[in-house]
Amino acid sequence: MAVMFALPFGAIAQDSSETNREKDNTKNEINSKTQKSMNTLNKFEFPQLPYAYDALEPFIDKMTMEIHYSKHHKAYFDNFVAAIKGKEMESMSMEQIFANISDLPAAVRNNGGGFYNHHLYWGNMRVNGGKPSAKLEAAIVKAFGSMEELKKQFSDAGKTRFGSGWAWLSKDDKGNLFVSSTPNQDNPLMSVAEKKGTPILAMDVWEHAYYLKYQNKRPDYIEAFWNVINWEEISARFE
Ligand code: MN
Repeated sequence: MAVMFALPFGAIAQDSSETNREKDNTKNEINSKTQKSMNTLNKFEFPQLPYAYDALEPFIDKMTMEIHYSKHHKAYFDNFVAAIKGKEMESMSMEQIFANISDLPAAVRNNGGGFYNHHLYWGNMRVNGGKPSAKLEAAIVKAFGSMEELKKQFSDAGKTRFGSGWAWLSKDDKGNLFVSSTPNQDNPLMSVAEKKGTPILAMDVWEHAYYLKYQNKRPDYIEAFWNVINWEEISARFE
């Protein structure tokens, strides 16, 4: 203790923040083994694509996937890390950052959103992605009446998003599902979102997500997207 008191204030503060970071890292490792929650996304590590670039063919082509992941997603990640470096945001969770986004720099909003949203998007796509769990299916029927109606509302949200953005299926704080869309790289966790909730299904409708294969035909990409929905992952996110 005597040594601690003898240290300059700056040194103590630095030691303490290092310790907190170590604790956070340990917690993240434990969580990643026990749940699939996106809360555990490591802000300082570019996550691996969970499949090969051609895994979603023919619905989403290999070249689109390669450029989208290795260039676009990587750039959002790199720019996000640069934007939070040495700042208080380094020790905040993504959820805390998004909840306070209106007070943070535009670079954090755009690149933090881009980093997080694409991670969700890769994870909720797979060929032969199974079916919704009984619990998720019941919530879909409760909110939309049927799977067909969910598909219609979600597809319309993507088709009518002017310019670049995302379509979302999210759950609100009461566990009820809703469909929404956001501009640019915003998402429903952000304080600026019109409808706030926890996203469980993400669809990128930026042109870079579909232009090489579908050109201006965004509705064709959206129709194809329904062939690569990873219902098992979405069910896990819901529960
Ligand atoms: Mn994208």
